[in-house]
Amino acid sequence: MSFASLGLSAPILTAVAEQGYDTPSPIQIQAIPQVLAGRDLMAAAQTGTGKTAGFTLPILERLLNGESAKPNHARVLILTPTRELAAQVGESVSLYSKHLRLRSAVVFGGVKINPQMIALRRGVDVLVATPGRLLDLYKQNAIRFNGLETLVLDEADRMLDMGFINDIKKIMAVLPKQRQTLMFSATFSTEIRALAKQFLNDPVEVSVTPNNATAPTVTQWISPVDKKRKPALLTRLIQEGDWQQVLVFTKTKHGANKLTAHLNAEGISASAIHGNKSQGARTKALADFKSGSIRALVATDIAARGLDIDQLPQVVNFELPHVPEDYVHRIGRTGRAGASGYAVSLVCADDLKLLQAIERVTRQTIERRQVPGFEPVNLVPEETTVAKPKHNRRPKKPFKGHADGQRSGFVASGHKPKAR
Ligand code: AMP
Repeated sequence: MSFASLGLSAPILTAVAEQGYDTPSPIQIQAIPQVLAGRDLMAAAQTGTGKTAGFTLPILERLLNGESAKPNHARVLILTPTRELAAQVGESVSLYSKHLRLRSAVVFGGVKINPQMIALRRGVDVLVATPGRLLDLYKQNAIRFNGLETLVLDEADRMLDMGFINDIKKIMAVLPKQRQTLMFSATFSTEIRALAKQFLNDPVEVSVTPNNATAPTVTQWISPVDKKRKPALLTRLIQEGDWQQVLVFTKTKHGANKLTAHLNAEGISASAIHGNKSQGARTKALADFKSGSIRALVATDIAARGLDIDQLPQVVNFELPHVPEDYVHRIGRTGRAGASGYAVSLVCADDLKLLQAIERVTRQTIERRQVPGFEPVNLVPEETTVAKPKHNRRPKKPFKGHADGQRSGFVASGHKPKAR
């Protein structure tokens, strides 16, 4: 299966190829033809499945026909629950429409409204928005929806969880009845089905997680450590766990280079992949990693986007990401297609704010496991104040070594986090 066989035009195929995607993901194979055919869609797909391209690519294709947007109007509206997701989806829209003459904008709260009003003046083909700010803009006559062609509700389950139902209803009330509606959600809960019944018209249902049993299982844990001892802890984890294929995330390109040098010096073959590396160097590093000739691939978030690595057993957050959604993306690199995956974050006292944000967004308290000998001088609390754990708290578990290969000691009674 290729992207070309899904019926996408050359400029879109070029943009997809530039992202390094070879083959469409399952959600893309299922969703793209239906969206192109103009059907409403109800899709169960989580972050990490390629859902964003699953709706963006066919939407862009459809936008190639028809008239461009009138001033202060949008042809496609994509609603997301958080600013971070809005920014991320907006980024995807820009990337995939790079070779098209389409205008897009992203609007969310917490920043000045004026530049957003200016951006909407000429009209946009694709508007990505969070509900509250969109309503503000609507009230100020900055945006109108006559002629809206397609509405996307991304992460609809999370919008409900975050209490956006009334905002959504208000927005729905001002959208034209005649439109295409696509709804993405991690699961089809009763509430989601009720929402779909109300706002979708004879939707096609597609799902890449048919039931919870086949949902990806990622065991997550946190290893508290002082900042300066992170490299030594990582070395210990890789060696003692006998990890043969580990994707390590760092915050900066420089950090990626430094850590790669450290790992190589410790006898753990590693390569870095980031924006300053040539495409050739990146391709080689990825090929070496996939073939097993290097054990560790050290990447920044941007570089890791679009890396297609199947069945990756182990992800390490050497540093936590600044955007909590990137945490979800990062760990989504493991535990794909129902396989088990393991994601460990090396957390020092400086990382507390970032950890709080991640635990809040993922609505969980990630289990702490102290590796003996790496106890931090500056402590990492057992629980951040803002996380609302849905699971019973577990007592801290000691690091037990690697009696039966890479997974022992870390996952013997691995807790399975809620999928999102
Ligand atoms: P999403 O589930 O939309 O958040 O996408 C998860 C990640 O998969 C993003 O980093 C995308 O860039 C990447 N991605 C999307 N489609 C593909 C594909 N067909 N092949 C490889 N990577 C992809």
